[in-house]
Amino acid sequence: MERQGLAELHTHLGGSVSSDTLWSLAHRQGIALPVKDFWDFDRLVTVSDPRGVPDLDALDAIYHWTELIQSSPAAVEVSVHGAIGGAYRSQGITTLELRFNPMKRNRGGERDLDHIILAAIRGLDVASLEYPHVRAGLILMMDRTFTPHQNEIIVEKAIRWAPRGVVGIDIAGPRPGGARYDYAQVQPMVEEARAAGLGVTIHVGEEGAEMGRAEIGEVLELLRPDRIGHGILAAGDAELMRELRDREVVLEICPTSNLLTKSLPDEEAVRDVFRTFVDNGVLFTIATDGPEMMRTHLRDEFDLLLRIGALTQDELTEANTRGHEASFVGGAHAAQPNTPVGR
Ligand SMILES: [Zn+2]
Repeated sequence: MERQGLAELHTHLGGSVSSDTLWSLAHRQGIALPVKDFWDFDRLVTVSDPRGVPDLDALDAIYHWTELIQSSPAAVEVSVHGAIGGAYRSQGITTLELRFNPMKRNRGGERDLDHIILAAIRGLDVASLEYPHVRAGLILMMDRTFTPHQNEIIVEKAIRWAPRGVVGIDIAGPRPGGARYDYAQVQPMVEEARAAGLGVTIHVGEEGAEMGRAEIGEVLELLRPDRIGHGILAAGDAELMRELRDREVVLEICPTSNLLTKSLPDEEAVRDVFRTFVDNGVLFTIATDGPEMMRTHLRDEFDLLLRIGALTQDELTEANTRGHEASFVGGAHAAQPNTPVGR
């Protein structure tokens, strides 16, 4: 693992930037903050209570602040550059995919979307000069609270900027009214992205019990993703696990995040999920979801899984190798606009 470096495929830009950088960015831009002391701010922009947050809505409230502070080209550039450099220096991460929703960083249309995305690409470019051993790419995220038209624009941008380092698309966000999300409305966009050579990963199966499981099935059928963000609810569902295995979908599992958001109740549940996936041949990789916000590191995730007996050292190494292999950066997913990728 040391030799090849670590791979992190699931981390949000809003959760990947250190509090001190966000604090400086907020001040530099004159953003009105509800707190005046740095340590209060640190608690505002991270999951500071070791018992976690009550639910995903509470996590969204934290994202509100980091996204607001990152809502300018200058702030996005500093954030992307800082996240890639930090991941390499602190964790030896040599394959990194950073995901963000550009439309949650343009102050409701006040800032130009292309400027926001190009700023992220500048951060990526500078980081790639400073850290030539790191392969990094950007994933643009759609949102479940957005209209299909808004999501369409995000995918169009992802395709447009694919030659410059956008490697995939994703969808996340709360479900309006808590109702099941209709993934059919983003199916045409996902197909377009795939045809343009972009990787497809979808946030699903993180929470919502029965509904979450039904959504995993629907996503597999309708959107045919390469990877799934979380997907932990598939553990124990024989049919879903068979589907995941047959389609060789790689789950991006974020143990500490799942504990902090109460998606998994305790370490025993984490262990059960991993053992079930190993026993059923479901592919997965380990990620943080956002190390700064979750107050963790990728190495801490590996240590946790080893300590609680979720995975052996060999299985951890295998999961990390899979992370490098399943990355959308380079390889089969190298951006080739308008060139369909066969599968
Ligand atoms: Zn996530």
